[in-house]
Amino acid sequence: MGEHALLSASSSHRWIQCPPSARLEENFENKDSIFAAEGTAAHALAEYKLKKYLGIKIKKPKSEFDEKELEYYTDIYFDYACELIAEAKIRSKDPIILVEQKLDFSNYVKDAFGTGDLVIVADKILDIVDLKYGKGVDVSAAHNPQMMLYAIGALNLFDSLYDIEKVRMTICQPRLDNISTFEITVDDLIKWAEDVVKPKADLAIKGEGEFCAGEHCRFCRAKFNCRARAEENVKMAQYDFRKGPLLNDDEITEILSGIDELQKWANDIQAYALDKAVNENKKWDGFKLVEGRSSRKYSDEEAVSKTLIDAGYKEEDIYSKSLLGITAMEKAMGKKKFKELLNNLVYKPQGKLTLVVESDKRPEIKNTAELDFK
Ligand code: SF4
Repeated sequence: MGEHALLSASSSHRWIQCPPSARLEENFENKDSIFAAEGTAAHALAEYKLKKYLGIKIKKPKSEFDEKELEYYTDIYFDYACELIAEAKIRSKDPIILVEQKLDFSNYVKDAFGTGDLVIVADKILDIVDLKYGKGVDVSAAHNPQMMLYAIGALNLFDSLYDIEKVRMTICQPRLDNISTFEITVDDLIKWAEDVVKPKADLAIKGEGEFCAGEHCRFCRAKFNCRARAEENVKMAQYDFRKGPLLNDDEITEILSGIDELQKWANDIQAYALDKAVNENKKWDGFKLVEGRSSRKYSDEEAVSKTLIDAGYKEEDIYSKSLLGITAMEKAMGKKKFKELLNNLVYKPQGKLTLVVESDKRPEIKNTAELDFK
């Protein structure tokens, strides 16, 4: 495996926080996921739309995924990108606009480069835009190392030619309705690359440094049986609780702060053990494979319908009619028409109350009694 693949921008949040993870991951196969393939298809279509808009000749890509869905969501990215381009043209007579641009940041991370979905240079501002097609987790642009590394790569190309003062990074994640932007001065970005990226990359390449578990373990290929992650999570079980039959508030807070990671880790361990048992016939001491509960299903819906109609039942008795869900309806009729016709008929019910860490971006609910009244 080449060192470019070892330290990619997309895994940088992991190797920056846990440098030896990069070498440890080499022990595990890098399986291509269906989500990655879908992301590639979305990027190809988004590239096509932007290049066509910019007057660059390009053939429309074909894809095996739901065309309607790809069109719909890449349009959201495309519209946003066009707004940025229009804005840049107001600021500067002749902005530089690059689509799917190779960005080399190997001056800080050996042999590393990435691809910027959209790079715009106009009047002291460098814009980097990244399309994220995933819908699993909301990705924030704030101090996002992948975006910051792309920005370093873009500065390597343009900083000596243009007087860039700040970099604006935007993540557009249309399937989660998430557009996140973060700005940083060129000086602060370079300082981060010198003080953080370079030393961590040097450690990661050598497989050195401290293992450090956290939220970044989520996509680590070693996450299932990594000892550091296990130790971090069982630490809580060994927490030195004070004596007495009941936990006090401080102890509950302590448990709450680690519970998300603990749950994820426990799920990963279960998934790992199940996968080994199912696919490799692994026998875990004290455990066995059984069939889970399942619900009854019609084996042939057409035959069920015919049998009931022949028996004298009416269609309205055996079929139910339902409206398309909001997302499917919006997709079917287009965002504009949906807004025009149904905006007043759509509301957002109150979400289930949930306890989250204070840094979560949702506003705090201070008075639950008032909420009940509403
Ligand atoms: S699972 Fe977490 S702690 Fe273990 S190597 Fe990967 S990133 Fe590091």
